[in-house]
Amino acid sequence: MQSDRRRLVGGLVGSLFALTAWSQAGNKNEKGVIGISLPTITSLRWVIEGLAMTRSLDKLGYRAILQYANDDIPTQTTQIEAMLAQGATVLVISAIDGTQLAPVLKAAADKGVKVIAYDRLIRGSPHVDYYTTFDNFQVGVLQGSDIANRLGLAAGKGPLRIELFAGSPDDNNAHFFYNGAMSVLKPYLDKGQLVVGSGQIGMDKVSTLRWSGSVARARLAGILDKYYAKQHLDAVLSPYDGISMDLIEALKKAGYSQSGQGGQPLPIVTGQDAELPSVRSIVRGEQTSTVFKDNRDLAQVTATMVDALLNGKKPTTNDEKTYNNGEKVVPAFLLKPVLVDVKNWRATLVDSGFYKAEQFR
Ligand code: BGC
Repeated sequence: MQSDRRRLVGGLVGSLFALTAWSQAGNKNEKGVIGISLPTITSLRWVIEGLAMTRSLDKLGYRAILQYANDDIPTQTTQIEAMLAQGATVLVISAIDGTQLAPVLKAAADKGVKVIAYDRLIRGSPHVDYYTTFDNFQVGVLQGSDIANRLGLAAGKGPLRIELFAGSPDDNNAHFFYNGAMSVLKPYLDKGQLVVGSGQIGMDKVSTLRWSGSVARARLAGILDKYYAKQHLDAVLSPYDGISMDLIEALKKAGYSQSGQGGQPLPIVTGQDAELPSVRSIVRGEQTSTVFKDNRDLAQVTATMVDALLNGKKPTTNDEKTYNNGEKVVPAFLLKPVLVDVKNWRATLVDSGFYKAEQFR
């Protein structure tokens, strides 16, 4: 599974470098320079989106400078400073830590550079002009509802056992995902139909710094050891596919396996991003579901927003109230997330051209 991920990342990164090298070398229709700052190449979604945005901007006649910050906050700041020095007039930024960019954004504003927060809200700065993302609360609602539906909680089943995992506490989205999931699950916890065996509830206890799969895996291994020696775990709320894959490893080590293969059946495990290793795991019957966010649309919406901004037009937004960054409410364009499981993965991911059928043979 990890080698799947490495091969795919390797291939995509190759095309990424070819494409950015070409794009950075200059495009004869150049209408302006756009800086795109993304967190990391270790999650495929950022690699795919970097490519998609560079292509869309290029088609519109702009030159994109695309940089990945290796999940390191000072690196991201330095890269954004370099983009400003190279004449970027719009910055598209997905922050590693959404609270750490205020000084560099002030420098951008002083130069009249516009800033679009991409997928993750940048907090604590008035210099964030727009935000493009998915309905992040709804992502959590989809994850929580999938657990509730499969466990039959609305029909009164229980008590059943769950463990909770959330994303990085410095990523604003992680709080929306968790709150969305808990909006569905909390009533069942309150009624005792769901029980968190470890007692670990709340972002302060269940978050996972930098979305690290290995950190989450170690936490689950400890929990299984301590609280589940004699009882079965029925569900795991996982916020993101990279974490889900590691959680499944921990579960297998503790004696859980795919149903029908002996041992205890794996619990329900949610996810997000429809990453290839996770979709394959869903097809194999291990991970239960993921949330697909069609990042081709996000990249397209963002490129269109850049174009509008640089043409003096007001970009289209569809949410003017949800995303207060501590300094202002940032006008946002929200896209719809979709739950994917073994029943609809082909229709949602292959028929839409997001993946090719051969990738599942
Ligand atoms: C994104 C998710 C992603 C997570 C980890 C979040 O900010 O919205 O799509 O799973 O970061 O990379």
